[in-house]
Amino acid sequence: MENIFGKNLAELTELVLGLGLPKFRGKQLAEWLYKRSVTDFQQMQNLPKDMRNKLAEGYVIDRAARVDQMDSGDGKTSKFLLNFSDGSGVETVLMRQPYGNSICVSSQVGCNMGCRFCASTLHGMVRNLTPGEMLAQTYYINDLLAKEGQKVDTIVIMGSGEPLNNYDNVLAYIRLLHEDYCLGMSYRSITLSTSGIVPNIYKLAAEELPITLSISLHAPEDELRSELMPINRKYPLADVLKAGRDYGQSTGRRVTYEYILIDGVNDNLKQARELASLLRGQLASVNLIPINPVAERDWRRPSLARIEFFANYLTEHHITATVRREMGNDIQAACGQLRNKHLDQ
Ligand code: SAH
Repeated sequence: MENIFGKNLAELTELVLGLGLPKFRGKQLAEWLYKRSVTDFQQMQNLPKDMRNKLAEGYVIDRAARVDQMDSGDGKTSKFLLNFSDGSGVETVLMRQPYGNSICVSSQVGCNMGCRFCASTLHGMVRNLTPGEMLAQTYYINDLLAKEGQKVDTIVIMGSGEPLNNYDNVLAYIRLLHEDYCLGMSYRSITLSTSGIVPNIYKLAAEELPITLSISLHAPEDELRSELMPINRKYPLADVLKAGRDYGQSTGRRVTYEYILIDGVNDNLKQARELASLLRGQLASVNLIPINPVAERDWRRPSLARIEFFANYLTEHHITATVRREMGNDIQAACGQLRNKHLDQ
């Protein structure tokens, strides 16, 4: 049966008109699904019994079911393995930050980008997620937080998958998040992270949505970047950086560059210098992420002194740099690690 969860108001309105019902029923349906977060048509009390039955005959409200959960020792980070009705599982992470509740949403089941440091890609990509499935991850956590009188405040589309390779669904999800009848989130509280799918960075800029773009860089020159991220062979560094610069200029939004720090691989002085020179004069900042070691790969994070040295070098050369707070390291919060554990079992 067709999933109704994730349809926007226009689609719901079309659906009720198709059932021979008046247009305003679409708005009511949207409110039950997204404002009240009900999971059963029979709970939609202001809809006529006949309509509820018709809906239940033709549609399902497909939400996400929790399969596993891991909480960090400090209780601030929780990682959920959520399943959809076809049995596909994705990871979603809740991070209780000082500035609010941030969640990390997956955009695909698995990933086919092949980044060497990433656990999400080890089993390849199964399929794209629909807008409803990304929304279901969001509502799973929002409903949990609602019990504590809290909500999801910021969203990073930075879980498993390459969001710009699932462009239409991701955009539909982002637009739905913003709607008043849904979570009413401001676009500024949403970040999309990409490995650098250049044509779609331009496409995204043309949407003129004030979301934050984050680009995974991880190396300051092509040879190393291609080794770490095979997508660099298709979209090389210079093109990615130009797209980032153009995105910043056309949207006025600061682009963040993610740079995983891997001991002895991309953390030396020459690389810090190259990185600073690449970004000089850009409306950009660098997010340094000490690598979460992945069991399948033999890479380690640099020493604290080395991490500070790298960050300081950038700052001294007028590049805004922050070291990502390490949340959830004790629960393997790096993308894909919890799902892999289940796939391997
Ligand atoms: N495909 C998108 C979004 C998913 S990856 C992208 O590449 O941006 C999201 C972020 O998690 C990326 O910056 C990625 O490099 C980072 N990441 C993946 N594996 C990691 C690991 N083992 N340790 C630290 N960060 C990791």
